[in-house]
Amino acid sequence: MQSSARFCVMGEKMSYEAVIGLEIHAELATRSKMFCACPVVDPQEAAPNTAVCPVCAGMPGTLPVVNAAAVEYGVRVALALGCEVNPRSLFARKNYFYPDLPKGYQISQYEQPLARNGRLVIHTAAGEKTIRIRRVHLEEDTGKLTHLGPDRSLVDLNRAGVPLLEIVTEPDFRAAEEVRLYAQALRAILRYLGVNSGDLQKGALRIEPNISLRPMGSQTFGTKVEIKNLNSFRALERAVAYEIERQAQRLEAGEAVQQVTMGWDEDRQVTVLQRVKEGEDDYRYFPEPDLPPLVLEAAWIEGLRASLPELPEGRARRFVEQYGLTAYTAGVLVEEKAVADYFEEAACHLSASVAPRALANWISVDLFGLMNQAGVSAEQIPVPAAELAELVSLVEAGRINPGSGREVLAEMFRNGRGAAEIVRQRGLEQVSDADFIARLVSETLAEHPAEAASFRAGKVTVLNWLFGQVMRKSQGRANPQIVRQELEKQLGNQ
Ligand SMILES: [Zn+2]
Repeated sequence: MQSSARFCVMGEKMSYEAVIGLEIHAELATRSKMFCACPVVDPQEAAPNTAVCPVCAGMPGTLPVVNAAAVEYGVRVALALGCEVNPRSLFARKNYFYPDLPKGYQISQYEQPLARNGRLVIHTAAGEKTIRIRRVHLEEDTGKLTHLGPDRSLVDLNRAGVPLLEIVTEPDFRAAEEVRLYAQALRAILRYLGVNSGDLQKGALRIEPNISLRPMGSQTFGTKVEIKNLNSFRALERAVAYEIERQAQRLEAGEAVQQVTMGWDEDRQVTVLQRVKEGEDDYRYFPEPDLPPLVLEAAWIEGLRASLPELPEGRARRFVEQYGLTAYTAGVLVEEKAVADYFEEAACHLSASVAPRALANWISVDLFGLMNQAGVSAEQIPVPAAELAELVSLVEAGRINPGSGREVLAEMFRNGRGAAEIVRQRGLEQVSDADFIARLVSETLAEHPAEAASFRAGKVTVLNWLFGQVMRKSQGRANPQIVRQELEKQLGNQ
């Protein structure tokens, strides 16, 4: 993905730099809502308006009460991101009128947010990059509208008042890839902390990039465009890349970029205008009169800091040191906590002579392939970790060859049976008997004299074809290394 768009202006080379910031809204996976006792329910499973009370329905005369668990979750995220947690933060009213907001305002935090000045390190193709986090604040979600037509919409207030954590970065991104990597890394942290489901499709994590362009070398910011409603990392990366290109073309043509909010049209793969952006002043923020300042004791904050679990970054480093994995493979394995746990459990069951690196490759290549095909999540891997370890041990010990190993894994994945059992039943045990293999090779060469001759005449690539014939004759069971040695020997002798 390119970080800047280059165009020629009047024969001169003009290049632009993209400046991108990110706002992420994460629903906090608490049992109850932010300011009332209503349960937080699954938006796709609960019937509409079944988790609503006078507080979250915005009835006059009701009073909000802060959910202590939501504050704790928010502080844990802030600490994991290296933020300074404010000992005293304020709730504020953000006023606007919309049918999904029964009170006519949203309770948020404005001048004194929960935390500030954090950072998150991402690993790009060009190396490490630190993204600064400007602020982390608590707020409440709005209801959900379902539009049935131009003049008919349904309102569901189950989501109204669900705790949200907003995490705002500095405009430190320069490329679409960086934005995606950050969003993925943040999702991993939230899931390790157990404070968010990470389900983008269900809206549990909502990512809103803002993008502007400026001439390369300039320090002033251009006009920024915000993109909303991105429900996958792929859509995020594509939408940002598209928007960089769109703005570059406008600037190139001598046109101004308008400050607007765009959406992403997944079918057409283009950004589309949603509305002309309101300024911050339109929200008429003022301190929430119904809530006292949120005061956090230093000892409580330090207690949370001390109880933070091992996070993806630290776990990846440990995987490199403890298991000898490459940084890349370690990064792939720790992205989902369930996968990292699975790898560690399987590593415990591995024969002492087998390198964990082999196990890591079986997971990140073959197992991931089967999971993608079947649409199985990391939490639902149907192959017990100990059984995968058994399979990898069998392959590494030369008892079955890698090709058979992959077939066995596919069968384990389908029906959950054990590796050794499948190998036994299907007679896949690898044959290393030298006399048996020598016989297979001489038979094969006798059946294909033309190919053998063309190898001897110098066409070395025929060797792979002959190798394939011998393996087929053995029904995939012959030890491939011995087959290769024997082939070279017999072809060389004659
Ligand atoms: Zn309620």
